[in-house]
Amino acid sequence: MSETHKFQAEVSQLLKLVINSLYSNKEIFLRELISNASDAIDKLRFRAIREPELTADGTPLEIRLIPDAEAGTLTIEDTGIGMTHEELVQNLGTIAHSGSRAFLEQLQSGDKPSLIGQFGVGFYSAYLVADRVDVVSRAAGHGQAYRWSSDARESFTIEEAQRVERGTAVVLHLKEEHKKFLEDWELRGLVRRYSDYVSHPIQLRVTEGEQAGKFEAVNKASALWQRSPKEVTQAQYDEFYRHLTHDFEAPLAQAHFQIEGTLLFSGILFLPRKAPMDLFQAQGRRGLHLFVKRVFIMEDCDELLPPWLRFVRGVVDSEDLPLNVSRELLQDSSVVRTIRKQVIKRALDRLEELAQEDPAGYLTFWSEFGAVFKEGIATDGEYRDRIAELSRFASTRGDELTSLADYVSRMPEGQKDIYFAIGDSREAVAASPYLEALRKRGYEVLLLSDPIDEWAVDALTTYKEKKLVSAMRADLKLEDEKGEEQKKQEGAVAPLCAQIKSLLKGKVVDVRPSERLTDSPACLVVPQGAHHAPMEQLLRASGRDLGSSRRILEINPTHPLIQSLQRLQESDPGSERLQDWIETLYDQTVLMEGGRIEDPNRFARRITSLLQEAAAGARS
Ligand code: ADP
Repeated sequence: MSETHKFQAEVSQLLKLVINSLYSNKEIFLRELISNASDAIDKLRFRAIREPELTADGTPLEIRLIPDAEAGTLTIEDTGIGMTHEELVQNLGTIAHSGSRAFLEQLQSGDKPSLIGQFGVGFYSAYLVADRVDVVSRAAGHGQAYRWSSDARESFTIEEAQRVERGTAVVLHLKEEHKKFLEDWELRGLVRRYSDYVSHPIQLRVTEGEQAGKFEAVNKASALWQRSPKEVTQAQYDEFYRHLTHDFEAPLAQAHFQIEGTLLFSGILFLPRKAPMDLFQAQGRRGLHLFVKRVFIMEDCDELLPPWLRFVRGVVDSEDLPLNVSRELLQDSSVVRTIRKQVIKRALDRLEELAQEDPAGYLTFWSEFGAVFKEGIATDGEYRDRIAELSRFASTRGDELTSLADYVSRMPEGQKDIYFAIGDSREAVAASPYLEALRKRGYEVLLLSDPIDEWAVDALTTYKEKKLVSAMRADLKLEDEKGEEQKKQEGAVAPLCAQIKSLLKGKVVDVRPSERLTDSPACLVVPQGAHHAPMEQLLRASGRDLGSSRRILEINPTHPLIQSLQRLQESDPGSERLQDWIETLYDQTVLMEGGRIEDPNRFARRITSLLQEAAAGARS
């Protein structure tokens, strides 16, 4: 008896798009279906570790391509895990994988159809070339097989069926214009082009020549990571990466390694081109695929990577772990620790190479993943220096990012330390008054605007014996001899400092003349033990009580505004106006530091009244 099910709305939508889109390379349907077949065999082998009876009948684990010109069908068959009745409904009636979802979102956002060809839409890509698809499947360990069938309109049917072997046969009823996919040479070519990485045999039932009717192996059927890197082409790496990640873009780079020593393991690490949406989410997808002796064990094995490399994808295949390894066992396995060390080393080696050989490619990596990678400076002492060497920073020198090494190589005579400033955005930091004195001396300043940056520079403290010094720190010393004039001005401004200090009690811990300002009247500086504004905000947002601000206010004795305040104070120390001006000046310094002013309404009222007075003065 046949039952009819309606597709989930998203699937109908996807199918319509697949069928009607101007798909230029329809041939990708084959790689998608072979990829599913390969996964199905991997899943079966994994389950057979604990349930050996599942594979006891000796059916070879393989993928078969069976063209039938008479019937006009191409069948892609596997002897893998198979699907139960429920699984057929669930897996082939709803949107299972994230690749399809990403595809839909991209299309809905109005992107060009030319992009579509790059996406893998999984099983549904069968409808690029077929107007009807039958899926006959018998799940491993189950006696009854079922046939799923659909012409991709609104619904599909399911009925009982006969299938001797365990596994799945996907029967494509090819559209007239796609009958070329029944030809031997076409199928061989497509397997070599898109599916050569598949580690299970792909057998083609030949239709022409002497061998007609016989099966012929069309791929190498060895795991890609076990082949010599010299034999693997970039296209093969790219296809394998696609299969692993469902990413529709090729990777930026890969590192392929085979380790022989006390431990035997091999693997391939990939650097994606784009950061996934969940990179900063705690439950985001991360980790490598783990194989043991070629048997697929688990995906997203994050024990193999430190958090600061969580964007790396790929596989590791170990000869030393037991096949029945569990997550718990992985967590305190010395084998895993050794592998992890090698994985980190290979990843860092590859990044160093990329930075050397392809600076533009390296910057792509940096803009996508730099913020995550930098976490390692703060959290992983063992690799701190290598990560710092690979880090890139915005600087006052120009638009290009710089490495610490390049910064140091440009340091003028007399500059001892590496200077940085921290704020909400590069633009805000670049315009900040803290840089004035350093600029005047021709010193370059690193402009840091990631929340993680303060944490990272604090942990690093020095680079090649040069101290990292914040331009915003209270103890910034520029080691100049103070001139007579300067000393006189500082002395003269002392009473004003004292009055400001008492007025701003609780808001600042000290008020003093500044050595770092040339053009601005005042700024707040960060004393030892206190954080810069972005980090303070982050800590407050996470519920930490930091108490009141512990800033030092520096005023510029040479600035006309400060000199006017000084004169006003001398003539009328109790002036209410003076009080208003000082508070406004203070609020302004809070804003410039990237902080938040306590009472924006009061600030605005004061500004309005000051403007009003000034405007009235201008008219008269
Ligand atoms: P994806 O393979 O990316 O998850 P698909 O749309 O291609 O997405 O397939 C949906 C699901 O259907 C798969 O996750 C898998 O569970 C199941 N499936 C597809 N093809 C097969 C197959 N040949 N054997 C067993 N299960 C399959």
